[in-house]
Amino acid sequence: MSKELLITGGAGFIGSNFIRYLLNNSAYNLTNIDSLTYAGNQSTIKQFNEGENYRFIQCDISDLQQLKKVFDRKYDMIINFAAESHVDRSIENILPFVNTNVVGTVHLLQAVLEGKAKKMIQISTDEVYGSLKDDEDPFTERTPISPNNPYSASKASADLFVQSFLHTYKLPIMITRCSNNFGPYQHPEKFIPKVIFSAVKNREIPLYGDGLNRRDWLFVKDHCRAIERVMEAGRPGEVYNVGGGFECSNKEVVMTILNYLDKSEALIKYVEDRKGHDYRYAINCSKLKQQLNWKPSYSFQESIIKTIEWYKQNSQWVNHVAKSR
Ligand code: NAD
Repeated sequence: MSKELLITGGAGFIGSNFIRYLLNNSAYNLTNIDSLTYAGNQSTIKQFNEGENYRFIQCDISDLQQLKKVFDRKYDMIINFAAESHVDRSIENILPFVNTNVVGTVHLLQAVLEGKAKKMIQISTDEVYGSLKDDEDPFTERTPISPNNPYSASKASADLFVQSFLHTYKLPIMITRCSNNFGPYQHPEKFIPKVIFSAVKNREIPLYGDGLNRRDWLFVKDHCRAIERVMEAGRPGEVYNVGGGFECSNKEVVMTILNYLDKSEALIKYVEDRKGHDYRYAINCSKLKQQLNWKPSYSFQESIIKTIEWYKQNSQWVNHVAKSR
């Protein structure tokens, strides 16, 4: 019999890519739950056909009453992508981040404790580790948690609840902490889609501070492959870092996109830096590579081109999603 997976936040960027990946590459039965905030869109998931192996239920994970209706069957695994995910929004208004990222995650942990699901993967972020200086080694799974902004604090809080459930109840739960993702279906308020879309339309490209903040970039399909490996072979109780192995400054990302589109650097407009902007994230994912035999299969150069081409061909989707705020 096919395994039953509960995927939360499957109308958002990474969750929808993960569902598409599983529908094409596996025989799991998928239940996708999403409250459809501005970041989760019906037009992103309309291509998934409702049927025996896929269903969608609109549900807010921070609302226990709504969650009840989802547990009409027992799940083999919950994969929790649902989150408020934009740092800038968390600086404006933290409460939705606490409700979804912390309370919602605790509700799902509680469901595992009550036997409604056998296992869970918490999709976390490298931002929980804080910021690195140029001469510091990349984050490992042993790097202490030290979040610097309200978003990363809410994700770190969720991770601490996961760890407390692991320690107290010995539940089979794993955490993945990935670096910055990019690829199709990312909301156009996020960095790479915004740069592509602005450049295509010859609009100003806002760049925080001096543009020298550094990130490790992970193509979303490689992230999906990593989660699949953790799902199939990850050890309960473990944390796995996931990174693309390509670190560069935000300005270098912008220049790569401008060069590919043959646009002028003059489109860049340096704007006041984000409050408390983390300088550098870099991630060591040798544990995932060694224990679960995963490595990124797309180079940054080829996947950024795929991404640029996807946004050029899907401007209708971008325009539609950009309207929901
Ligand atoms: P996203 O904002 O694109 O999607 C989040 C989805 O969660 C949306 O569909 C939204 O409607 C849904 N959602 C929000 N609140 C909900 C609630 N209360 N109940 C149910 N659904 C709700 O985010 P993303 O970029 O796809 O990120 C997915 C996960 O990966 C998040 O947990 C995020 O913290 C983590 N992550 C993302 C990145 C990245 O670069 N995008 C990097 C590291 C970690």
